[in-house]
Amino acid sequence: MLPSNATITEKLSILEQEARQLEPNEAERAKIRDRVIDYTEAFLNGVEEADVFQILPDKGAEILQHPIAEEGTSTEELLALFERAVDQPGLNPASAGHLGYIPGGGIYPAALGDYLAAVTNRYAGIFFASPGAIRIENQLLRWISDLIGYGTTAAGNLTSGGSIANLIAIVTARDAKGVTSDKVKTSVIYMSEQAHHSVQKALHYAGLTECPLRMVSLDAHFRMDAAALEAQMKADRKAGLTPFMIIASAGTTDTGAMDPLDAIADVSERYNTWFHVDAAYGGFFVLVDELKESFKGVERSDSLVIDPHKGLFLPYGLGAVVIRDGDRLKQSNSYEASYMQDTLQDIDELSPAELGPELSKHFRGLRLWFPIKLFGVKPFRAALEEKLWLCRYFYQEVKAMPQFEVGPEPDLSVAIFRYVPQSGNADEFNQKLVEAIKADGRVFLSSTNIKGTFWIRIAVLAFRTHKHRIDLCLEVLKEKVGELEA
Ligand SMILES: *Cc1c(COP(=O)(O)O)cnc(C)c1O
Repeated sequence: MLPSNATITEKLSILEQEARQLEPNEAERAKIRDRVIDYTEAFLNGVEEADVFQILPDKGAEILQHPIAEEGTSTEELLALFERAVDQPGLNPASAGHLGYIPGGGIYPAALGDYLAAVTNRYAGIFFASPGAIRIENQLLRWISDLIGYGTTAAGNLTSGGSIANLIAIVTARDAKGVTSDKVKTSVIYMSEQAHHSVQKALHYAGLTECPLRMVSLDAHFRMDAAALEAQMKADRKAGLTPFMIIASAGTTDTGAMDPLDAIADVSERYNTWFHVDAAYGGFFVLVDELKESFKGVERSDSLVIDPHKGLFLPYGLGAVVIRDGDRLKQSNSYEASYMQDTLQDIDELSPAELGPELSKHFRGLRLWFPIKLFGVKPFRAALEEKLWLCRYFYQEVKAMPQFEVGPEPDLSVAIFRYVPQSGNADEFNQKLVEAIKADGRVFLSSTNIKGTFWIRIAVLAFRTHKHRIDLCLEVLKEKVGELEA
């Protein structure tokens, strides 16, 4: 039996007093906020000089000395801990010297878009709840579809990144092509060894690991060989199998290679397969006029993944998937829940919740809409073109340096190169070279292994990277090679 309402009222007054701590007043808000803003201002004012990599022995372990507790901590203490344990050890992806993994950098207004979204906390899952938020997200997706050339039937979903976007596309392809469990073992998937590993993970989650998987051979530029693709499909069909899906890359992560999309689209049409393009890294280079030609055929693909947190320099947390036939996306994600019945009236736009796996979701469109409306598209286009030319400049400089060898001319903003030492094992030398550069901290490069050979990889896509940083990178390379050869 419940206690009397007088007792409940007494209890509530105590609880309310405690719970109200979750709602700081205006003066208290200003105190917390100003400290955080001071911190981020100091970060931004120092970002040009800050190391891109810091090797610290305790690797942020101080966090563990401060367990989650009943009592709170001051803002000052928290920010000091954040600086020591989070901001210092490891990779600083906001740095202009981040030339390793596909960077982005994190343009500032995107953070403010997140702030607006979080403070107002509009629910961006369903049109009924926040028609304006849904219109923003769909407007962004339509803009992306238009860049690709998909036309008006397309639909899409904003995701946390390219990996989830690939998963949504692959599940849609599976359903659209009717690959039920009885058909898995005869439905063939085609990709290349250079496909991103998130594709393999997505195939796993989608229950497609038992599909026969063909790694189509690559040309000298590490691009998928369309003739080899067709030959393989022909052989598979002859053997009684069904070509199901092609997964091509518009900008591979490893070498930045653009697969021949138009030729692959021809093959896909001839064999009636689902044509998926993973453009997580390279997609926004379609904004650069001179690259339009290498994207030719992308408009004939069935689905595409593109990452604003790479090509539009946003902080981590925004990918996108677009499906040319939007109905397919809806069919793969439709659901019914009786408690949602009130949300089905007066709908002008499809809702994110019916176009992807998430229900309660971050209003992540705002972190893109805010900066792209604030700045316009033009500076993004210029920054992408700049990164393309920076990579070409670096490639030519490093090629001209004694004892260096380079991979193929870059299609986009990734290039591979290595040093061939006077004597000794070249792979070991280059591994030491990458380590020495990391320890130095002025620039950060990563490495890759292609057909058993160790290559150093430069990926130019941080919005803060400009020519002087590339020159610095060349200087650091010369300096570290000198030290290692000595
Ligand atoms: C980065 C990347 C992915 C994965 O995207 P995340 O946003 O990191 O999840 C997929 N494919 C390619 C080609 C990529 O470069």
